[in-house]
Amino acid sequence: MNDRRDRGFGLKPEPLIKDGRGRRFIISGPSGTGKTTLCSAVLNRFPEMLFSVSYTTRKPRNEEKSGVDYHFIKKRDFKDKIKDGKWAEWAEVHGNYYGTSAQLLDKGLDSGRDILLDIDVQGTIRLLERYPESVTIFLMPPSIEELKRRLKFRDTDSGEVIARRLENAKMEMAKKNLYLHVIINDQLPDAIGQLVAVIENYRSK
Ligand code: ADP
Ligand code: 5GP
Repeated sequence: MNDRRDRGFGLKPEPLIKDGRGRRFIISGPSGTGKTTLCSAVLNRFPEMLFSVSYTTRKPRNEEKSGVDYHFIKKRDFKDKIKDGKWAEWAEVHGNYYGTSAQLLDKGLDSGRDILLDIDVQGTIRLLERYPESVTIFLMPPSIEELKRRLKFRDTDSGEVIARRLENAKMEMAKKNLYLHVIINDQLPDAIGQLVAVIENYRSK
């Protein structure tokens, strides 16, 4: 685990909550690294924490439920919401649109509960403009070979989609230094332990 703030890089404002609203924990990382798996473990460990359910124009995967994993939405409706300023952040990722509803996010934060977000690097940069005190965590795979194995093993995407996601992985990983914390998801229990420790550390302050 790598906490650059403690090492004096001085890149980020102190991510502490002073306004009685929930904290924001943002998780990013290449597709197939294990973000969904780790977010699920965090939500089990902290049941009072909220998960920010994003909107996307991509098609649902087999097991995915609308309103739970994502709000699935048509491209035209997504674009209308861009025009109407409805997104706290949005981005085009791997050829689909993804966005965080400003209204849903604000409602969650007003409840005082902490919120976990799984969004990409572009979205993180945009959300930091709005909420600079967010806690940012980048999840890394142990290697590109293992990332490829996980994407294939997950068996949710075509070869073409997997190739596109792997192509984007290197670009995404090159941005990891924008994040306060970097965790390598090699052995799952270790990665869960590290992520829970990061979150617990902020929640205890
Ligand atoms: P992401 O949300 O980042 O795209 P997922 O959580 O869907 O990734 O994980 C991709 C695949 O890798 C899933 O099949 C998941 O069970 C598996 N996986 C996650 N973490 C590990 C790990 N530490 N070791 C081996 N497999 C893992
Ligand atoms: P997937 O299609 O595998 O569920 O997600 C693909 C990518 O989109 C991941 O990098 C994920 O973090 C990102 N993503 C999911 N929701 C959002 C969102 O609301 N905004 C942004 N910017 N990225 C998102």
